Amino acid sequence: MTKLSNRVLQMEESVTLAASARAKALKAKGRDILSLTLGEPDFVTPKNIQDAAIASIENGKASFYTVASGLPELKDAVSTYMENFYGYTVKHSEIVVGTGAKFILYAFFATVINPGDEVIIPTPCWVSYVDQVKMVEGVPVTFQTTEANHFKATVEQLEAARTEKTKVVLLNSPSNPTGMIYSKEELQSIGDWAVEHDILILADDIYGRLVYNGNTFTPISSLSDAIRKQTIVINGVSKTYAMTGWRVGFAVGEPEIISGMAKIISQTTSNLTSVSQYAAIEALTGDQSSIEEMRKAFEERLNTIYPLLAEVPGFEVIKPQGAFYLFPNVKKAMEIKGYTDVNDFTNAILEEAEVALVTGAGFGAPENIRLSYATDLDILKEAVRRIKAFMEK
Ligand code: PMP
Ligand code: GLU
Repeated sequence: MTKLSNRVLQMEESVTLAASARAKALKAKGRDILSLTLGEPDFVTPKNIQDAAIASIENGKASFYTVASGLPELKDAVSTYMENFYGYTVKHSEIVVGTGAKFILYAFFATVINPGDEVIIPTPCWVSYVDQVKMVEGVPVTFQTTEANHFKATVEQLEAARTEKTKVVLLNSPSNPTGMIYSKEELQSIGDWAVEHDILILADDIYGRLVYNGNTFTPISSLSDAIRKQTIVINGVSKTYAMTGWRVGFAVGEPEIISGMAKIISQTTSNLTSVSQYAAIEALTGDQSSIEEMRKAFEERLNTIYPLLAEVPGFEVIKPQGAFYLFPNVKKAMEIKGYTDVNDFTNAILEEAEVALVTGAGFGAPENIRLSYATDLDILKEAVRRIKAFMEK
């Protein structure tokens, strides 16, 4: 008899982390692999943030547990951040800080989902949402958005997915993996629909500050008091501040849900690692100039690599507006090379072109592959050159 729980038996390992681990293992064996797998900035954490963390170690503050929901000083910093980028103020009781936006998302699902409750997740979507909902015995209700609508869900599609058991609708804008951003008008109509049907909005805004070429991000929670009351904002510092390893995420929303999430944290991780909390205070409230430099670097990479990728035979790609991913449709490319399964096609690019990508299958998109451009421009150019050569062979 298996020793494993049904929970684990029905789970998939994170496809992004698995693809990255595989690329690293091949590299360690001496293969010249270029990895465009992970959505992880290649920059090191800005110096002012490093210094704040070191100071908290040296002055002894980082030695201790904190309140489960996060240091009051960090909640002040989140509150300042919300005022600056969302245009409204929040109280400490509306903020919880935890071990990465990923765990904060899990704490949210564990807080609001009873067995059988449904979470509407438009796809393509980030790889962890569906499994996290299943982990708490919820039911992920997915549907395909269309490329014609730039992979964005419409109210009609959401209404078709709604049942008596719908508890949450998940929105991720700018999106991982598509890079698309919902307009203010689109968000307003989705927000009004959620309010009308008393459905919680889970707004994963983690890429909100990584927008390019004049595109802008509107937080759905900023649109009206009623929508804000209905919304739990998920955010973090991993992407914007080049701090993936520090594992800082936070949620902002109604105190009842926030204190439920804090309860989950108090019985699991106790608190976000203290040193990371001190680093996050500096990230959110300190000098922001290095953030703009990194954003500009991503923008330059996008603008350089997008036209090159669009020239690869069989690759059809919509220019992303934010985040740091390209998500080409490779249906025609698979036909050209004689593949019917995108996992096999992604493996062939790995084996023959020595470029590691993430299969679209993990994002609910069996005709797409994902390239992360959070990596050096020369590597990106060489990777696309190799993919093109593979397609032309
Ligand atoms: N949401 C999305 C859409 C993501 O791409 C990621 C990537 N890691 C996360 C949440 C989680 O971020 P983290 O746990 O590093 O804060
Ligand atoms: N979110 C990033 C990605 O999609 C990091 C890995 C993960 O957490 O999935 O690649």
